[in-house]
Amino acid sequence: MELIRDPAAMTAWSEAHRVQGQRIGFVPTMGFLHRGHTSLMERLRPRVDKLVVSIYVNPLQFGPTEDLDVYPRDLAGDMAQCEAVGVDAVFAPADLYPDGFRTSVEVFGLTEGLCGAKRPGHFQGVTTVVARLFGLVRCHEACFGEKDWQQLVVLHQMTRDLALPVQIVPGPLVRDHDGLALSSRNTYLSAEQRQRGLSLHTALFAMAEAVDQGRTSAAELLELGRSMIQADRLDYLEIVGALDLEPLEVVDRPARALVAGFFGNTRLIDNVALGGEPSWS
Ligand code: AMP
Repeated sequence: MELIRDPAAMTAWSEAHRVQGQRIGFVPTMGFLHRGHTSLMERLRPRVDKLVVSIYVNPLQFGPTEDLDVYPRDLAGDMAQCEAVGVDAVFAPADLYPDGFRTSVEVFGLTEGLCGAKRPGHFQGVTTVVARLFGLVRCHEACFGEKDWQQLVVLHQMTRDLALPVQIVPGPLVRDHDGLALSSRNTYLSAEQRQRGLSLHTALFAMAEAVDQGRTSAAELLELGRSMIQADRLDYLEIVGALDLEPLEVVDRPARALVAGFFGNTRLIDNVALGGEPSWS
């Protein structure tokens, strides 16, 4: 497995494999890897000839009061996990934006609600870094986790709108043994906060079960969920169409319940399918 630091070297590496007709898979991350990340690598591994993982804490997607400076890092541990699942190259640039970088990529509509409303500029940071990474890595397929459902939908839209030659492959949300969605940020939680954090998935699962039993009123489902969540501050709990992210009054098509809440200073997100999984076109 190779460690590549320089963006131009990344592109040269990929081009060298592309000219041999090899297909390249790509998993972008911010590092401090866990089983959620490695599940995406394992999903792509059999589909491609060469597998690239990027590790880059992207300043563009953090707000001024967010955790950019304290975001956890462990390159040696990350490299060991990548090696164990058969990654061919880890791309860990010190910086990704050269002097004179002047471009921003924005997807409209899908970024206005949910996390987009609570984290202004966040998705513009995400779409800009992913567009640049796609340009550098020249991958055929890229895997993104359903843990960040809105991000997945936004990146799918960007890739389609810009006709980028990359297939977006969704990867299922991976949970810890107690049900908490795995996240690099879980490391910030105290034992007590983590215990209350479990209420996110129990609330979402109760909502999904209620839908399975025929309860389709979004207002009722949201009330059920809210009554169970033990966050210090609930950022949002919403029910939206799975792929258009439009708020629903009735769950009459594949939908998603999404939640974000603070436990102390730590913001956790989670989501679940309501009424079946959507089909990506
Ligand atoms: P991050 O390092 O948080 O930027 O995440 C990198 C990728 O891993 C994104 O596509 C995330 O959606 C995905 N990811 C993070 N946590 C999980 C999880 N628990 N299950 C599945 N995918 C995840």
